[in-house]
Amino acid sequence: MPASCNDRMYSLGASGSTIRQLFAYGQRRKAEIGADNVFDFSIGNPNVPAPAQVREAILAALDEPSVELHGYTAGPGAASTRAAIAASLNRRFGTAYEAGNLYMTMGAAAALDASLNAVLDPGDEVICIAPFFPEYQMWVESAGCVCVRSLADERMMPDVDDIAARITPRTRAVIVNSPNNPTGAVYPAEVLARLADALTAASERNGRTIYLIADEPYREIAYDGVTVPWVPAIYGPTLVCYSWSKSLSLPGERIGYVLVPNTMPAWQEVYAAVCGAGRALGYVCAPSLMQHVVERCVDVPSDVAAYARNREALLGGLRGIGYDCVEPQGAFYLWVRALEPDAKAFSDRARGHELLLVPSDDFGMPGYVRVSYCVSHETIVRSLPAFRALWDEYRAGDAR
Ligand code: PLP
Repeated sequence: MPASCNDRMYSLGASGSTIRQLFAYGQRRKAEIGADNVFDFSIGNPNVPAPAQVREAILAALDEPSVELHGYTAGPGAASTRAAIAASLNRRFGTAYEAGNLYMTMGAAAALDASLNAVLDPGDEVICIAPFFPEYQMWVESAGCVCVRSLADERMMPDVDDIAARITPRTRAVIVNSPNNPTGAVYPAEVLARLADALTAASERNGRTIYLIADEPYREIAYDGVTVPWVPAIYGPTLVCYSWSKSLSLPGERIGYVLVPNTMPAWQEVYAAVCGAGRALGYVCAPSLMQHVVERCVDVPSDVAAYARNREALLGGLRGIGYDCVEPQGAFYLWVRALEPDAKAFSDRARGHELLLVPSDDFGMPGYVRVSYCVSHETIVRSLPAFRALWDEYRAGDAR
């Protein structure tokens, strides 16, 4: 416990996330034994190159006057960028959003943090459906609030009855993330509609709106023609947090947005609070160059084919060995049951086979590992014998 600084911030910074620790271990290990000999499934860094249109948009933006291109934009973002995004959403979802419904951010992370801080008062509760992206808990707690965990059902869908049972007068928000990290689940409209009914009833009972915060960095990455429902059409008080980190493979460029739909009750107040939260958090404005780029790329489709191919190879390969996997309908993660109850111990043993798998405990659920398949196809194919050896090691242990 250092006297020189804030305890909580010290421990957040000194330990880092499990995913980042495993990733850092992978980097060290690759330097020791060669990159090809380590099967790093730890981090969700897209391996698909950004589309050619992104490069063209960057080059075109560089022709614009430097002072304007690299200057501050308005706090919520450039009006032309926000108008282009609103128009794209309106074409896709039959909505009537305007620039004034959008607040540009540094990726989905900043969008979530701004949204949470906009609607939460200290002591409020936020329900997170486990397994969930581990940073949710940190952001909720940083806002002085409590993260309440609701376990997904065995199909990794929200358990609406359990969520309803966990609502208290202090509940202010529920975070939904579909397509989901870490399970790949896509929540169908019927499930979201049941959740919406439960939240509407509880909001009326409490005399206070319970918001849905839809975390959607994987919205475009879905397989087999699965539709990702537009959540604000199902539940009015929904804030959408989006980013191009995954859809256009731009995670290091930090660009995304919060949408406060104009169909939400008191949306102008909530929007002002999002801008206020961004100001309080010191965001100033999202990167200007990237605002120019996404303005030109709003309708560029994601390249899902490579992930679909990886998904097939990994799912087929692991199921063929005998692993129990949740079939992902979206995103680029496979949720695999660990071969022993202690997921951390299983992940440690997997490391012995140079397999870097993230244990599920940090996602709020025991007994699984997350395998990120945004890696080269070759990595997946070459990793299968290591998965087999890990399986055999456990079977041999059982036999003893
Ligand atoms: N939410 C989820 C579910 C994620 O998986 C991630 C990143 O992996 C984020 C938010 C943060 O994304 P961004 O890079 O856009 O900040």
